[in-house]
Amino acid sequence: MTRPTRVLIDLQALQSNFRRVRSAAPHSRIMAVVKSNGYGHGLIQVAKALPSADAFAVACLEEAMELREAGVQQTIVLLEGFFESQELESISRFDLELVVHHSSQLEVLEKVPLAKPVSVWLKIDTGMHRLGFMPENLPDVVERLEKCSNIAKPLRFLSHLACADDRDSNTTAKQLAKFIQVTKGLEGERSLANSAGLLAWPDTCLDWVRPGIMLYGASPLPGNTADDLGLQPVMTLASRLIAVKNCRRGDAVGYGGDWVCPEDMLIGVAAIGYGDGYPRHAPDTTPVLVNDQQVSLIGRVSMDMIVLDLHSQPTAKVGDSVQLWGPDLPVDDVARHAETIAYELFCGVTARVAVEVIEADKR
Ligand SMILES: *Cc1c(COP(=O)(O)O)cnc(C)c1O
Repeated sequence: MTRPTRVLIDLQALQSNFRRVRSAAPHSRIMAVVKSNGYGHGLIQVAKALPSADAFAVACLEEAMELREAGVQQTIVLLEGFFESQELESISRFDLELVVHHSSQLEVLEKVPLAKPVSVWLKIDTGMHRLGFMPENLPDVVERLEKCSNIAKPLRFLSHLACADDRDSNTTAKQLAKFIQVTKGLEGERSLANSAGLLAWPDTCLDWVRPGIMLYGASPLPGNTADDLGLQPVMTLASRLIAVKNCRRGDAVGYGGDWVCPEDMLIGVAAIGYGDGYPRHAPDTTPVLVNDQQVSLIGRVSMDMIVLDLHSQPTAKVGDSVQLWGPDLPVDDVARHAETIAYELFCGVTARVAVEVIEADKR
């Protein structure tokens, strides 16, 4: 037997979540965000399972080239544009679309010779204060882009929401109002909403929505479970018990020995650890499923193993199934215990974890 640590990717669940995006934003085009290896779900298989996505968004040229080399023909948008002027030739040749967020990029675009013009999304900072031109500089920037022969017309516009996951915050309404105000009178499509925006703030959907996390079946809204929102988990992280043993009251478990058995009890060892992407900071009490029953993590997470409290499962044995997150244990619950977010857990699954796929519906 090889090491039983597995990630299962359910592409039918992905397709169902895509349909959920369509129903939540019926009048918008969909730019499916597949950066960071499709949030850890496999860039190419994710993209191929979404033939009706209007575009894909990635973080860098390497990710875009992987898509093109795999035969993906839809529009591909580089969310941070280019980092080096040498990238522009490939960007133009492979018909990639660019986000332009900074004057340093604009200066390069005004200088380099390009065989054909590139399509540009102009990024506006409406309040997140990460990437984007400040609204007061917009008239000047638009004028320069309009004049630049390397840039296809019409321009398009995007901005990013900082607090869309907080239904009580007034930041989203302010960002939307700002975005509408500064792009008023400018020809060209507009995009603002991420997953949280498109679910909680329908007015932000505009011409294009940019869902990421909801496609993968985690909840973008802390107050709602994925299930509440009609989303299905795409990733299951699973393993098996590789040891089961009886410990005595007072026995210390794992590195540092800081977890001590409060009574005589059965413990189990599962083949999964931070070397697979399971969060090292997950505390005891973090839920894990053994044979579909919830048990708790105990002791520190090791590189290749975790230890589980099996006192509620006296018949558990070596080879029994272990689920770290998936359909029966929401990744959002695990993330909350580990004081992180599902995004990080998804992206953190490492290359040594074997991948199995439930194939997409071909219709
Ligand atoms: C990652 C990203 C998204 C997707 O966000 P989710 O919260 O995963 O839906 C959308 N837009 C931009 C600019 C991003 O960087």
